[in-house]
Amino acid sequence: MPFAHSVAVIGGGWAGLAAATSATAAGLRVSVHEMAPQLGGRARTIDSHGLPLDNGQHILIGAYTETLALMRTVGVDVSQALLRTPLRICYPEGSGLQMRPGAPVLAFLAAVARYPGWSLSAKAALLSTASRWALTGFRCDETWTVERLASHLPPAVRQDLLEPLCVAALNTPANQASATVFLRVLRDALFSGPGSADLLLPRLRLGELLPDPAARWLAQAGAKLHLSRRVESVQPEGTAWRVDGERFDAVVLACSAAEAARLTADVAPDWAAQARSLQYEPIITVYARASGVRLPDPMMALHADAARPAQFAFDLGALCGLDGLLAFVISGAAAWVGRGSDVTQTATLAQAQQALGSHLGSELVAVRCVTEKRATFLCTPGLQRPPTRILPGLVAAGDFIDGPYPATLEGAVRSGHLAVEALS
Ligand SMILES: Cc1cc2nc3c(=O)[nH]c(=O)nc-3n(C[C@H](O)[C@H](O)[C@H](O)COP(=O)(O)OP(=O)(O)OC[C@H]3O[C@@H](n4cnc5c(N)ncnc54)[C@H](O)[C@@H]3O)c2cc1C
Repeated sequence: MPFAHSVAVIGGGWAGLAAATSATAAGLRVSVHEMAPQLGGRARTIDSHGLPLDNGQHILIGAYTETLALMRTVGVDVSQALLRTPLRICYPEGSGLQMRPGAPVLAFLAAVARYPGWSLSAKAALLSTASRWALTGFRCDETWTVERLASHLPPAVRQDLLEPLCVAALNTPANQASATVFLRVLRDALFSGPGSADLLLPRLRLGELLPDPAARWLAQAGAKLHLSRRVESVQPEGTAWRVDGERFDAVVLACSAAEAARLTADVAPDWAAQARSLQYEPIITVYARASGVRLPDPMMALHADAARPAQFAFDLGALCGLDGLLAFVISGAAAWVGRGSDVTQTATLAQAQQALGSHLGSELVAVRCVTEKRATFLCTPGLQRPPTRILPGLVAAGDFIDGPYPATLEGAVRSGHLAVEALS
């Protein structure tokens, strides 16, 4: 990176922290500007009357290699911080996909063959379809939705496996979600080597998983961290840039797409228009308490439909010592946002009581409902996402930047590293 000595990173989410860490490791003088009072962005810890909760339960998978490497770089003991289990999407009544340790492809095939409750013809249909996807390199018509991709499969396969996987991975309902991106996620989970499909469930609050250790690492390495500082303007000055008047050789825009569009509206209107055109899908997390609760698995799938909002339940006692606390995740939550958080919370508790009743021990009491209206971009077929490079010395990072992944921690971290590489 011959010409950049000082770099401003605007935004301290996971993409900004990845960019700041990369740039600091490359010997640059780095300033991180974050408008919130804490780092972490959409994957952060929030204080709920003294109880440290996350803004939403996050799941990582073994294929998140760059996220795991970044956590290690800043001193996180990944084996302690994350509970690693083979992929399991199990429902309370005992059905579900349960992969065993081993080569992911073989483990997936065996898990489908063992799937309790599916007919032989349903299993054969999924296995032959999955083989066809593998033979065609996990590619399909760019215009297809996941619903279209899976339209010939039996309803049980779609409802019990593909639709929950789709909404968990892309946060986009199957009837709107890009089949191309869905197949790419499946390919990376199944073909990136041993353990790539494993679930990695946080045992720590999100703040401790990356933002806090990254802040300590950056401060020790001499980077400057400015919290509660919203950047108002980014202006060119010769080959350099002024960030609210302060001069930097280069700038990484690692803020939200809407803020990146605002900051580039004058200098790069086409890029700004593309960033502004993204649409979003919400995620709602309902936290509830039942003393003595212990779920059979720390993460369980739930049957969701128009009356039952949540697709997954997490036992935070089993995961991170918050005994008696459950988190219910409602992805692809636009319809429930429309109904309001009181209705959503009541429907979630009724769903949980009915589905998990025998495991609860006592009645569930709502603790908090967190709605993230712009949780992720809507990952639709043929979506054009803005590129990393904007202008010389001005680059962008974030889960919404063009790349192979949907809006995920891994997409954010990869984009942060790529943004710094693009400055050279
Ligand atoms: C509820 C929920 C659940 C999720 N679950 C999962 C999951 O299970 N697995 C997974 O991989 N991903 C999940 N995601 C997605 C994941 O959290 C995001 O992809 C990732 O956090 C995005 O990081 P980012 O750095 O790109 O963006 P952000 O986290 O949005 O970071 C942008 C930062 O820029 C700051 N900022 C904005 N404007 C300015 C400005 N003008 N000046 C200074 N700072 C500014 C913001 O405050 C923010 O901190 C989930 C997201 C949500 C909301």
